[in-house]
Amino acid sequence: MSELRSALDDLAAVDLVGLSDDALLDLVGELSVAANRVAAVLTSAVRAVDRREAHRRDGALSVRGWLVGSVRLAPAEATAIVTTGRRLEQLPAVAAAFAAGEVTATHARVITEAITPRRVATAAAAGIDLAETDQILAELARRTTPGDTARGVARWVAGVDPDGALADAADVRRSFSMATGLDGRVHLRGELDPVGGEYLRTALAARMNGDRPAGDARGHAERQGDALVAIARDALDAGSLPAVRGERPHLRVTIDWQALCAARGAPGVAGGELGWAGPITPETARRLACDAAVARMITGPDGLPLDVGRAQRTATTAIRRAVEVRDGQCVFTGCDALPQWCDVHHLVHWAHGGPTSCDNGALLCERHHTAVHEGGFTIHRDPGTSRWHTHRPDGTEVLSRAGP
Ligand SMILES: [Zn+2]
Ligand SMILES: [Zn+2]
Repeated sequence: MSELRSALDDLAAVDLVGLSDDALLDLVGELSVAANRVAAVLTSAVRAVDRREAHRRDGALSVRGWLVGSVRLAPAEATAIVTTGRRLEQLPAVAAAFAAGEVTATHARVITEAITPRRVATAAAAGIDLAETDQILAELARRTTPGDTARGVARWVAGVDPDGALADAADVRRSFSMATGLDGRVHLRGELDPVGGEYLRTALAARMNGDRPAGDARGHAERQGDALVAIARDALDAGSLPAVRGERPHLRVTIDWQALCAARGAPGVAGGELGWAGPITPETARRLACDAAVARMITGPDGLPLDVGRAQRTATTAIRRAVEVRDGQCVFTGCDALPQWCDVHHLVHWAHGGPTSCDNGALLCERHHTAVHEGGFTIHRDPGTSRWHTHRPDGTEVLSRAGP
């Protein structure tokens, strides 16, 4: 073990910047094989612990529990290593390819997940030679990605165990969870059945591609994230979601009236608060309130409500249509996001007495609406025209790169 440690120390000390491209690519290739071999040895070692129940020495009830408690593996990871180790005993060819570093732990996992003891028994009863299957799958894993290997394995399963394949397809369990990090960003995690996933993909693809602006430079994951939020906004705006405690669901922003009315970046102003996400800056609260149905609630010094106003939509449909016709797209220089992606921004915020009128309105996509409220960019229109100018926080103008 000490030789392994010193070899790893040497590797960590390699000057990556000084390597040629060829040498760098060779290094990554070699390290990948080495990582596969280490993963294979780890799997065998865990299997050895499992077989002789060595975890009991530390008071753990299962090898999986010991891996989670003592090695801090994620529970799913611990389960996968234990199961892979047990089932590889039936698949010597796959195990040998793994041990030689020719296939990854993920390859070994997709194969062993499918080759369950029950299927092995079914295959044996049907006269299917498991040794031959083992050879075929090992060869498949050597040549293809884990995804392609999984598809090959699924074909084998459909052959020996049509009921099992049906059972997999009938597995409609779904899970989805969200966790808010310390910085307020929301992390998503979940799993859907194939048909449920198809619904989500279809809706996302429609929102992503339906009216994609020309020259859109966002990556796939970024566009998919934007589309997910847009679908949620659509559903809230359409009022098609069931009422909660007699009220149409909507975004809840709580902010002190004085803070809402304060000038941008004014010192000593308390921020607002979102229902789920928690604290936000006054600038973000002003952006969310800029083009939204707003319900007023005045609270006394003790925080108890004194007066609750009705929700009002700040831009009426008629005003919105007029602004859309005049501006045609996001008015931020260099952006051509279509009106359906845009908010109607108040040039002078209604909290500062700005009217909700065509004259005081401007189409801004969500990104540029954020750039204006939170980023300090400003926009203004030449009076009597539909020609817009964008200025940076330092006062310089953002010029169109596409000519006048
Ligand atoms: Zn705005
Ligand atoms: Zn824009």
